[in-house]
Amino acid sequence: MARVVNRPRQSSGRSLERADQATVRRNNLALVVRHLREHGPRSRAAIAVETGLNKATVSSLVGELVERRLVREVGTLHQGAVGRPAQMLELDGATVGAVGLEVNVDYVAAFATDLAGRVLHDRRIPFGAMERGPAETLEALAEACREALVSIAAADADPAGVTVAVPGLVDVEHGMVTLAPNLQWYGVAVVDHLWSRLGRPKYPIAVDNDANLSALAEYSIGADAGTSDMVYLTGEVGVGGGVIVGGRLLRGADGFSGEVGHITLEPGGARCGCGRRGCWETMVGLAALLRKAAPNPDDPVNHPGLDPEERVQELLNRAERGHQRTLDAFDEIGRALGYGASILVNLFNPRVIVLGGYFARAGVHIVDAAMAELRTRTLAPDAGGCRISLSELGFTAAVRGGVLTAIDAVLANPAIVGPAPQQEAGPGRSPLMLA
Ligand SMILES: [Zn+2]
Repeated sequence: MARVVNRPRQSSGRSLERADQATVRRNNLALVVRHLREHGPRSRAAIAVETGLNKATVSSLVGELVERRLVREVGTLHQGAVGRPAQMLELDGATVGAVGLEVNVDYVAAFATDLAGRVLHDRRIPFGAMERGPAETLEALAEACREALVSIAAADADPAGVTVAVPGLVDVEHGMVTLAPNLQWYGVAVVDHLWSRLGRPKYPIAVDNDANLSALAEYSIGADAGTSDMVYLTGEVGVGGGVIVGGRLLRGADGFSGEVGHITLEPGGARCGCGRRGCWETMVGLAALLRKAAPNPDDPVNHPGLDPEERVQELLNRAERGHQRTLDAFDEIGRALGYGASILVNLFNPRVIVLGGYFARAGVHIVDAAMAELRTRTLAPDAGGCRISLSELGFTAAVRGGVLTAIDAVLANPAIVGPAPQQEAGPGRSPLMLA
């Protein structure tokens, strides 16, 4: 959920009453936006009848939404011989842009779309986040975000929100990264830092776990969208999981669930970024693949200037040419992937396991081995009907999830975008909205 960092606090009883009015107004704005999004162009009168709001309220709400450029008038519809023609309204998907940022071990990324899903910005920059530390990395993220905001402005859209994806434990409510082992981040106040670095914007800034955001993206717009029981696995240096059960993201008591990469599968095995040994990601993460396929540090695939996609592409080229050590490495990764996946299938009985990141790119070389291992090790016959599918969102899944989260925040509270109408509160004042 998005966190609005500069929301005024309520104190007195009178303020609470005003806050209630503001809540009603916000919910009604959201209702009209959702109605237009789901049902297409409509007249004010039709919106009133279909939502149960009275006509004067709908007129006032539409007035504000037009002012905020979320809704526009699109010609008239003649209804029969008598009566005035009705002015039709539609959701304007082009006026609002949302940003998804991502920090990972060796890159930062920024992605932006408008409300209609049109891509306005897509950039990934090689960046050694662990060596550079949180302060420099947050500045790099802020810079990547500024570039995305320039793209949004160039499209004549207003920024609606920013969501940052981080590979680690995230306290979503407080906008903090509690622990990100592969970045060596401990207690980093991502939201507050970015909010300051971006000039204290009024749109919401949020942070969430990268696998959770990827799972939300797959569930909303991926090839298996709408599959209500799904596990998403990131395939980066680290391996994280986003678990969707019954159509809801599983977060756990503190939001720390899904850390499947740190399930111990090989006690005494290779050292993990978290300091333990034998975690699943030491067997299947990108570092494991590189260790198996290119053990020589001078191998060109290990060149520090390459981003993960280029490394994987080079290994895929080698596999294509029948290079035995590379093929063996992929096969080993596939089996270890199926081994760990069987634990998830025994626990959650998902209909599909969606492989993201480099797993998706290397799919053809790993899926058969993974599926065979999965069937062998799962109690339910035929792996409980679970299949393995390859993400088509690839390395953009997390940033797309970030964008979708920011857009959801607009749909829930349209008042966070566009120019503030007169009745909206400025910082430090109680919001007084006209119902
Ligand atoms: Zn670990």
